[in-house]
Amino acid sequence: MRTATSHEAAAVGAGSLRIDWTRCDGHGHCAALLPRAITLDDWGYPMIDAAAVGDEHLSDVKRAVSACPSLALRLER
Ligand code: SF4
Repeated sequence: MRTATSHEAAAVGAGSLRIDWTRCDGHGHCAALLPRAITLDDWGYPMIDAAAVGDEHLSDVKRAVSACPSLALRLER
């Protein structure tokens, strides 16, 4: 079970990087593409470190969002 210490969103650009848990399959492609901001928990599900990602990482964030095979990683406005 996720705790308050596992960040589930990060402000990037004008949006918010979020994970749709109803879609996430936990295969971890996002952590491979965005290792500075996303780590995997003990079950392989991603955790977003909001302090490790910012506007300067917007292009990397967009690339990771585009690569999510389940459309679970989103940059919402
Ligand atoms: S790439 Fe998408 S489906 Fe895979 S772990 Fe990351 S958010 Fe979940």
